[in-house]
Parts: sequence; structure tokens; C-alpha cells
Amino acid sequence: MTHPRLFTGDTLVIATHNKGKVPEIAALLKDHVANFPSAGELGLGEPEETETTYIGNAVLKARAAAIASGLPALADDSGLSVDGLNGDPGVYSARWAGPTKDFTLAMDKVRVALDASTDRKGDRAAFICALALAWPDGHVEAVEGRFEGRLTFPARGARGFGYDPIFIPDGYDITCGEMDPDLKHAISHRADAFAKLKARCFHTG
Ligand code: IMP
Repeated sequence: MTHPRLFTGDTLVIATHNKGKVPEIAALLKDHVANFPSAGELGLGEPEETETTYIGNAVLKARAAAIASGLPALADDSGLSVDGLNGDPGVYSARWAGPTKDFTLAMDKVRVALDASTDRKGDRAAFICALALAWPDGHVEAVEGRFEGRLTFPARGARGFGYDPIFIPDGYDITCGEMDPDLKHAISHRADAFAKLKARCFHTG
């Protein structure tokens, strides 16, 4: 078995142009990394997400930022995968909301597509978060976190974002839109992915 590569520096580029993600990721890795410049701040280009898997898109973004900056870079890609829709909207989760980022529309598209499918495993779904850590020499470590649950319609709750109001995590009877955000952050696909990445690349000793 080959060993994963450990992160040993003090600077990690966050390969995103989404300003909201930088402090969120910095908070999760603050015990391991001192500086978190973002791809946006460094004026790096934003590659098109052309891959068909979460890991593929995260790797593409992390590699592009690491090579352009000469520093290690971290990228994420996430979305909702619905069993009865063969994994859709999947890597297209943001795109289903259209140019105005209308998630009422995106959730309705999921409902309509599920109604049209005859497959009753249709209610099962998972939020997925891929994380890729790339170095300027092209080496990449990647992990995938999962948050399993089922869908419910109509949408409920206004405490979350994206597809949260139609997603009920396993073991709960409320949607992520109704859930305390701190609880969601503790049990989410992102928490799972960061725990896996830390165990792989950021442990000390
Ligand atoms: P990206 O990872 O920034 O490309 O975003 C993917 C899309 O997936 C987002 O626009 C959200 O709609 C959806 N998504 C990812 N994670 C969550 C979540 O925790 N709750 C609700 N929607 C999510």
C-alpha cells in the first residue's frame, strides 16, 4: 500500500472564487495551516467543471490552482445524488438551479423527475462532498464524504441552503432546512470529508 502524502507547509490555497467558502474551510483547518489565500485573491483563473464525478471536478480545480500558484491547493465539489434519478442532479446540482440560482426551481425539478420515475427507491438520496488536495508537482490526495438520507416534498424549513429543505438525514425526522445549522455541520457530508482528509493528510505525530 502506498502512503498518502502529508501536508507539511503553512500556506494552503483554497481553490474557490466563492468568498463564503474560504472562512468556512479555514475554520476547519486552522489547527494545521496558518495562511489561506484563495484562488480568487491570487487572481487565478477559474477552470470549467467539465468532469462527471465529484472527485474529478475537485481534482481538476485543486490541480489547476496548485500548478498556477506554485503552492498546495485544496478544492471541493459537492451536490445531491438521488438514487432514483441515477445520481442526478449530482455534479450538476448548482446548474439545476439555473442562472438565477433558484433552488425552489431546482427542488421542483427533482420532484417532477422523481414523479416521472417508476422506481420507488427514488426517495433515497445523499449529499456528497469531494475534497482534493493537490501539490504543484501534480500529486493529489482526494476523499469523498457522504450524508445519507431521503427526500420529502413539499420542502420544509428555511435554515439551510440549496437542497436542504427536501433532505431528511437518516436517524432524523426533520429536514436540513429545519435543523440547527450547528447540528447539520457536525453530521454533514462536508464534516465527513474533512474528517477523512485530516486523517489522511493533516495528522501530526
Ligand atoms: P458546489 O460544491 O459549490 O459546486 O455546489 C454544489 C451545489 O450542491 C450547491 O449549489 C448546492 O445546491 C448543493 N449542495 C451542496 N451541499 C449542500 C448542502 O449541504 N445542502 C444543500 N445543498 C447542497
